[in-house]
Amino acid sequence: MSLIEVKNVKYAYSYNSEDAIIAVNDVSFNIEEGEFVALVGHNGSGKSTLAKMLNGLIIPLVGDVLIDGMNTRDDALLYDIRRQIGVVFQNPDNQMVATIIEDDVAFGPENLGLEPKEIRQRVDWALEAVGMSEHKKGMPFRLSGGQKQRIAIAGVLAIKPRVLVLDESTSMLDPKGRAEVLNVIKRLNKEQNITVVLITHYMDEALDADRIIILNKGKIAHMGGREIFLEEERLRSYGLNVPTHIHIANSLRKNGMDIGQIWTERELEDEICRLL
Ligand code: ADP
Ligand code: MG
Repeated sequence: MSLIEVKNVKYAYSYNSEDAIIAVNDVSFNIEEGEFVALVGHNGSGKSTLAKMLNGLIIPLVGDVLIDGMNTRDDALLYDIRRQIGVVFQNPDNQMVATIIEDDVAFGPENLGLEPKEIRQRVDWALEAVGMSEHKKGMPFRLSGGQKQRIAIAGVLAIKPRVLVLDESTSMLDPKGRAEVLNVIKRLNKEQNITVVLITHYMDEALDADRIIILNKGKIAHMGGREIFLEEERLRSYGLNVPTHIHIANSLRKNGMDIGQIWTERELEDEICRLL
């Protein structure tokens, strides 16, 4: 049994009216514990609808979502499902509830009804995990976008979920903030074995994932490794661009130059130096 099983799910908004919008159409995939999966797709491809299906905020019209074998259709299981799968959304300001950072992070564990000592430990651990310990007595509104998003992640981590779903959580951040948050997520995946589902339309964020799932118009268009970055035309047809350094390598190769496999900017630099 996989940790996450999505089986032939379908969802439509205003489905009983004439202008029904099919947001997710017959999507199936499994995710194993400890995996880092990037879920990418153009605006409107169904990513957020799928994210909400993962923690039972939306129940599929057709098909099933099972988290550790628990079906999101079963109301009695939703509490347990949401303890296993934490979702961080796009705008950190909408996710802050308290005026002191550590109280904000404590909100989730308090709602679980945990002992104060356990709450204290979890808050300290979560703030440490996102590198924000020294800000615990601070006020959220003083933080940068990247720092706020790290606090939002800490708030979800304090529930100790096995899966972290990030729905475009870096899209409102500047490059520095994005890098900060991405590094935190990668570390949590490697060091704490937390399963990560990173939803993004920045293809460079998908480069380091174990697996890439591409959604196009509500359907899965690709599921596999980063070899897909070599198929630029196909990606463009899904409304996705490849990172510049990969585009350069692909173009040089197309023009007959002997460029090897490259994934990072550094590797491209090395290849070009070798050729020169
Ligand atoms: P993404 O996150 O990839 O941008 P969404 O899941 O938000 O995609 O949207 C998928 C489709 O469903 C889009 O056509 C979008 O306009 C539509 N949609 C999303 N949310 C709603 C809603 N609350 N009401 C009606 N249509 C919606
Ligand atoms: Mg979205």
